[in-house]
Amino acid sequence: MLNLNFHPAGRHFLQIPGPSPVPDRILRAISYPTIDHRGPEFGALGLKVLDGIKTIFKTEHPVVIYPASGTGAWEAALSNTLSPGDTVLMFETGHFATLWKKMAENLGIRPEFLGLPGVEGWRHGVQADMIEARLRADAAHAIKAVCVVHNETSTGVTSDIAAVRRAIDAAGHPALLLVDTISGLASADYCHDEWGVDVTVSGSQKGLMLPPGISFNAVSPRAIEASRSARLPRSFWGWNEIIEMNRTGYWPYTPSTNLLYGLSEALDMILEEGLDNVFARHQRLAEACRRAVRAWGLEIQCADPSVYSPVLTGVMMPDGVDADVVRRHIYERFNMSLGAGLGKVKGRMFRIGHLGDCNDLTLMATLAGCEMGLKISGVPVAASGTVAAMEYLAAHTVPLSLQAAA
Ligand SMILES: *Cc1c(COP(=O)(O)O)cnc(C)c1O
Repeated sequence: MLNLNFHPAGRHFLQIPGPSPVPDRILRAISYPTIDHRGPEFGALGLKVLDGIKTIFKTEHPVVIYPASGTGAWEAALSNTLSPGDTVLMFETGHFATLWKKMAENLGIRPEFLGLPGVEGWRHGVQADMIEARLRADAAHAIKAVCVVHNETSTGVTSDIAAVRRAIDAAGHPALLLVDTISGLASADYCHDEWGVDVTVSGSQKGLMLPPGISFNAVSPRAIEASRSARLPRSFWGWNEIIEMNRTGYWPYTPSTNLLYGLSEALDMILEEGLDNVFARHQRLAEACRRAVRAWGLEIQCADPSVYSPVLTGVMMPDGVDADVVRRHIYERFNMSLGAGLGKVKGRMFRIGHLGDCNDLTLMATLAGCEMGLKISGVPVAASGTVAAMEYLAAHTVPLSLQAAA
């Protein structure tokens, strides 16, 4: 039975790969009184966040902010750039890539789904050579866009986006490049301009440490150009009017004022720490987590070490173990939420989120909860993963003084 008055002692460990825990600084910022979204103060807030978010996407071009979840920004990316019946090439990295493809079908686009076969295919990243071969075969340029997921949140695989751009260019193909980094942004390095991405989709509730509710489209000049002739119906999602009004820090409709306070605070926090420090912190915690999984004698969902995700780690269960039962034990005994296996890997793995507002001791508590939960669930554990992770973290400490931007 749902009991909204359920508040056990201590804090809940929200270790799913999004929504991630919201730091107190951000919660306090969100609690400021709502202001007039047409008044003078609002314009200053709007300009600050619209400019600051470009630093996170590493772009000089406009970033559109929607009062919507990431799924809305997916729709915006497709509906602004494509026309009914257009063919797009998508790559099956996991559950989120599959959902984006379903959306394309719903919108009347024709997605072609490339991928490695079977459940095993979900253990690898985007194969740029397969994209290049397909584009070379498309001499008539029927394919209008290539759509890939940067950090596949259902598996813990972070694909090489620069390699996808190189593949498109090597094939001499004019297709746009659309990328979902909803769970990668502000946790894994991302370079919208340098990697030649046309539309980057992201959201608030993952690396940016905000509650769910706002999402983004970073758009290249080519994407804007494509939007002038794209014929999919759109109104709320249309870039042109929003970008025009954003010039002065305002929106054509009521934006999520309080979440924008939160975004302003999140940008301060990330830039105070320094983007490179944020990325290094995620890499280090992810490595400690993987050492724990290996010590337990369990397999990591991502089978290719060159594309391990710094955001989350997928932990595969031995045959005959239901990962959702293990997750339920951990939730009931230790008040911790872990990510479920989705789609093809439902019940076969669980996901440990180590993104956003996460430090050494957050991770250690998380791993301790996992280790106890595995034992309670009767999963044979070879050795202590918490000890393996502690040894790695202790041998690779970074003084707090060096964790702040110079
Ligand atoms: C979370 C997520 C989504 C969906 O975003 P919502 O905010 O739930 O709509 C899409 N793609 C990826 C990779 C995600 O991690």
